Amino acid sequence: MATSPPLATGPGTPLQVTGNLGRVRQVVRLGHPVLRQRAEEVPAVRFGTRKLRDLAFDLVRTMHAASGVGLAAPQIAVPWRVFAYYVPADYGEEIPPRVLVNPVLTPLGTEQQEDWEGCLSVPGLRGLVPRFTQLAVEAYSVDGERVTFHAAGFHARVLQHEQDHLDGIVFLERMRSLQSLAFEAEWEQYASGKQP
Ligand SMILES: [Zn+2]
Repeated sequence: MATSPPLATGPGTPLQVTGNLGRVRQVVRLGHPVLRQRAEEVPAVRFGTRKLRDLAFDLVRTMHAASGVGLAAPQIAVPWRVFAYYVPADYGEEIPPRVLVNPVLTPLGTEQQEDWEGCLSVPGLRGLVPRFTQLAVEAYSVDGERVTFHAAGFHARVLQHEQDHLDGIVFLERMRSLQSLAFEAEWEQYASGKQP
């Protein structure tokens, strides 16, 4: 997901991945077929391998280089169910950069909220997207450790945006109406201060 917040740091967790390792990869844009296919589950034999660790480092490094708050493996043309994200402190609950493997998201309740999203693979555009406000999350760390947690608000929004990339979906399809679709410069001028 795209915004330009400050970088976050924090204490270590099984999911946490530093942004100082790995390399900056090219982010593919809408039109590249990898963004429209369902990504594959990472097989258990890949957990803890150099290949999966390098992917995690590359995702976090590329996410920061592109000033995003989330980046899914298909966005760097790797068709695996892996994504990186973080939540900056100014969105409430701060989550340091982390990587989820084979995540499964389950909405808790039916409540949804609309808010603005952008996407590194759909550069320059913003739109209002409804998302579930509460989620239960099950996933694995790159080392195969199973993790479960709950997410709410912006945290839940980022997770749903990145999870959609693993299923070949971009935020444009989630918009209730294309009426709010705006270029970033115009959005800054006319819409950024308005609550949805
Ligand atoms: Zn995106």
